[in-house]
Amino acid sequence: MRTALPDRGPFALRARILTPLASGGTRYEADGRLVVDARGVITHVGPWSDGSDDGPDDRGADPRHDVIDLRPLILMPGMVDLHVHLPQLPNAGVGAGLDVLTWLERYTFPLEHAFDRATAERLAPQAYRAFAAAGTTTALIYGAVYEASLDAAFRAAEAHGIRAVIGKVMMDRDVYDDSVPPERQLEANLRQSADLCARWHGRDDGRLRYAFTPRFAVSCSADLLRESAALARAAGAYWQTHLSESRPELAEVAHLFPEALDYLDVYDRAGGLVPRTILAHAIHLSAREVARLADSGAAVAHCPASNLFLASGAMPLTRYREAGIRVGLGSDVSGGPELSIFATMRAGAFVQSARRVCEHDEATQALGPLEWLRLGTYEGARALGQEDRIGSLEAGKEADLIAVDPRLVAPVPGEDSHDPAEVMSRLAFRPHPDMVRAAWVRGRRLEGPIGVT
Ligand SMILES: [Zn+2]
Repeated sequence: MRTALPDRGPFALRARILTPLASGGTRYEADGRLVVDARGVITHVGPWSDGSDDGPDDRGADPRHDVIDLRPLILMPGMVDLHVHLPQLPNAGVGAGLDVLTWLERYTFPLEHAFDRATAERLAPQAYRAFAAAGTTTALIYGAVYEASLDAAFRAAEAHGIRAVIGKVMMDRDVYDDSVPPERQLEANLRQSADLCARWHGRDDGRLRYAFTPRFAVSCSADLLRESAALARAAGAYWQTHLSESRPELAEVAHLFPEALDYLDVYDRAGGLVPRTILAHAIHLSAREVARLADSGAAVAHCPASNLFLASGAMPLTRYREAGIRVGLGSDVSGGPELSIFATMRAGAFVQSARRVCEHDEATQALGPLEWLRLGTYEGARALGQEDRIGSLEAGKEADLIAVDPRLVAPVPGEDSHDPAEVMSRLAFRPHPDMVRAAWVRGRRLEGPIGVT
């Protein structure tokens, strides 16, 4: 037995295991075994006593010689953050009480304006370590507008090992990029984004991917929305933007796009509603928009901590799930104050309670802790269309996982428990900044978590 953490496969871990299952439900092993091969693929998950699959892997490495005992840590799938703004990390926690449009003008645009290549080279490695320390192994990321800063962000992700989908923010209205004259904004945005996509989409066997990223309808012309959606479809890349976050924004979009039926229709007319599209927030949708969104197959990044922080609204999660819309969780830093998807689950539970109590929404169901775990992992992977690779700990999937110390919850250690719902509830409602002790993507250990002592 070894206690040092493995840096890459092949290895076998002895630990508790808690994971959603692709077929539904949850698996909990009080004393489990998880085996990863040299390619970083999970070859076995089961109780420790069941060592039958523990032989040499297909490359001849024998994990029996490299078993690491992590008990009482819990292995879980890595968290999936479906919505986060890389340049805004330093601003997290600032601007509470402002509406979204004021907050953008006062804090966000100045920060993004300064996010040049040198800033990206300094900040991105710190950011990826912070993601991993929070338990996030996959992130769907907005950059700033500068092409060179996006190359720097991708290079840092390539080196760190995090799984990431990243996009240059595209704007051709109210732009902060004064290096490009207004009449060339549309063409420059499209060309730079297409070039970035060509360089990075699919890199490292799909660990890094590209998202065409028009900021939102207020910042974009109909041409930019349409052309960027066409580029995304042609490249098989993602398309991400914001939808229906705040009431003042809805009024502005109605003013700018009088021909559209509603906010969602602006993106529908652009050809943006396809399964590789992820729309952040989607709070104030009409019945028509909910039905059309479900029909289109586009996914929603639910960002409850941000929605509370900026007082944007309380998204009707139950309604969307019942309609068949794929929904995962986003931290939306710095609209949201924390990177942790565990903390995002807590905010999500509060938002659903608020809907029941304050809006008398009888249809809203209280999700249990294990359902929040599923939203933060498997459903995030499903929103990205990557649930065949990641999102749960099951044989055949890539080994994107975290080791969490269930004793290390704030403010004092919790009672140990083998009830998985109790364990998950403590981790979601009392997350400790050091509770994630290790994180791996495709079996490769990520820098960031503090490790085991
Ligand atoms: Zn956002």
